[in-house]
Amino acid sequence: MISVEEALERILARVNVLGDEQVPLTGALHRVLAESVVSSLDVPPWPNSSMDGYALQSADTRRASAPAPVRLAVSGRVAAGHVAERAVGSGEAFRIFTGGPLPEGADSVIPQEDVIVDGGVIVVSRPVNAGDFVRPRGEDMRAGEGVLERGRLLGPAELGLLAALARAQVRVLRRPRVGVLSTGDEIVDLGGHPGPGQIPNSNTYSLMAQVEEAGGNPVSLGVAPDRLDEIEARLRWGLDCDLLISSAGVSVGEHDFVKAALERLGAEQHLWLVDMRPGKPIAFATIPSSGKRALPVFALPGNPVSAMVTFELFVRPALLRLGGHARLQRPVVEAHADARIPNRDRRRGYLRVTLSVGGDGGYRARLTGGQGSGILRSMVAADGLAIVPGDTTIEAGATVPVILLRDVR
Ligand code: AMP
Ligand code: MG
Repeated sequence: MISVEEALERILARVNVLGDEQVPLTGALHRVLAESVVSSLDVPPWPNSSMDGYALQSADTRRASAPAPVRLAVSGRVAAGHVAERAVGSGEAFRIFTGGPLPEGADSVIPQEDVIVDGGVIVVSRPVNAGDFVRPRGEDMRAGEGVLERGRLLGPAELGLLAALARAQVRVLRRPRVGVLSTGDEIVDLGGHPGPGQIPNSNTYSLMAQVEEAGGNPVSLGVAPDRLDEIEARLRWGLDCDLLISSAGVSVGEHDFVKAALERLGAEQHLWLVDMRPGKPIAFATIPSSGKRALPVFALPGNPVSAMVTFELFVRPALLRLGGHARLQRPVVEAHADARIPNRDRRRGYLRVTLSVGGDGGYRARLTGGQGSGILRSMVAADGLAIVPGDTTIEAGATVPVILLRDVR
């Protein structure tokens, strides 16, 4: 039996980033940038006003004061989207609005609330400094400057920046296509009617959602009964995917055929049995393919919580690697146990906990309740997975590392 760390190392050594594709900016949210973006423009392209006010020559106001104000004739106008017809001369000011290009001759803007308007004249009773309320050309980005690096996750700000550079398309890494197979004579897919001894298929749906959250495109390969040929046939359907996941049928029972099916497909097995609970029986294999990269396959355990937790620890980092993400691991925080967290098993425990933030700003962890690997509600309630060594109890008040599954702050 190997450690979780060793297992992950063996997996990641066999998974490489996929190729890239061009997508419209409107479909690029949460995608990973495949190009390094160099600004093609100065942004803003010209100096412009950051306020509604008056563009003027600051030298005209050098001696302006309340007792001795300066009067400037308002002899032009620049709205956003328009340009001034001529330059601003000494002794005059142009009406200007936010975003309006600063006219030639002017070096500053005085906001409208800082002047008194007297017919066609403004009365300025304080000096204005050169550059006041002017956004200089290239203040945000300069042409030729690197602004986004390959591997960056595209969020709203990145998309806005690309749009500011007039980019309607962007190169992103391909999303991994992931085939998800459930197995078991007792498993009936949604839409079917479970007969005696049968239960609905839940793993396909939690796993497909986990795939999607990790940036993959899941496709269901349906449910195979516990029969070698049927499992093999359904896995075959998924051979054009970038990664395959099966659940159940991977122990050493008489009805466990997933590993045998993988063998028939020529798979090379890289690990089986990991020192963890839930989820000891997990296999990782690669199916060689001529001309194409080898196809990684995860055979996850069938218990719904085991399947989800082994996905978290092993499949998610592999998917993120395929998709070009720089960061493969969830954050791990130190939390204080609210009450004892016992792990009575010899294997390392990944125990479901709810988290709260205490008055001191630190995390507090509490077991979600029953930790059975079939108790899906323990996953529903879980904010994190507390990592507890085998045969160890975390006493109340002691700290424990917790993998953050979602943000609780
Ligand atoms: P196995 O790994 O085949 O021994 O299955 C372990 C447990 O997980 C059994 O109780 C199965 O009924 C259950 N199980 C397996 N596959 C699924 C599934 N797709 N949805 C819900 N439960 C499942
Ligand atoms: Mg089974």
